[in-house]
Amino acid sequence: ISFNSARFLISAPRLEDCPPDTGAEVAFAGRSNAGKSSAMNAITANGKLARTSKTPGRTRLINFFSLNRENARLVDLPGYGYAKVSRDMKDDWQKHLGQYLNDRQCLRGLVLVMDIRHPLTEFDQMMVEWCEHNKLPLMILATKADKLKFGQAKTTMLEISKKLQEFTCVEHLVMFSSTSKRGVDECRAALTDWLEN
Ligand code: GDP
Repeated sequence: ISFNSARFLISAPRLEDCPPDTGAEVAFAGRSNAGKSSAMNAITANGKLARTSKTPGRTRLINFFSLNRENARLVDLPGYGYAKVSRDMKDDWQKHLGQYLNDRQCLRGLVLVMDIRHPLTEFDQMMVEWCEHNKLPLMILATKADKLKFGQAKTTMLEISKKLQEFTCVEHLVMFSSTSKRGVDECRAALTDWLEN
């Protein structure tokens, strides 16, 4: 798979608007502003793929990107937890995300993007537990690692890994930075494995 070949496919405001549930998909989730769009851009070497935004929480749609391999897709799930969104929007968000995660047969794995400076938020823990319960392989990207000294980043990684010890769904825990591109190759290798097997 060549991740550089990723192309925007479709935005799905509702589950009915998703592409056919065939082939293989890996979905990216994360708290708003965690760095999910930047991570997807780094992985696909496309600065404009997933729009990064200074207004967190803007994207409420599920966005699909096609890869060069037949029926392999990357999926950008709506960011969670923007303080200013209304109750209705939050309910809407939960409904869509929940529906997608529960119904999607072609989902091969989930990438959970977290800011290394704020690891394992309540939302993150909820996602980890959901993956564990549903036996869905999980990759955690602890991103913005460039914001910490290497020693600090390393310590945080150890802390995260300790907290997640009991979770068998966690297949990869990657120190990541969209700025320095740290972890990009490791992440691509894991995605390839999920999408091809
Ligand atoms: P999203 O809401 O999760 O999609 O987050 P974005 O990708 O839009 O990133 C949120 C903010 O963090 C933006 O200002 C990015 O430039 C910044 N950011 C994202 N990833 C990194 C990173 O790896 N290093 C640094 N230094 N900043 C980052």
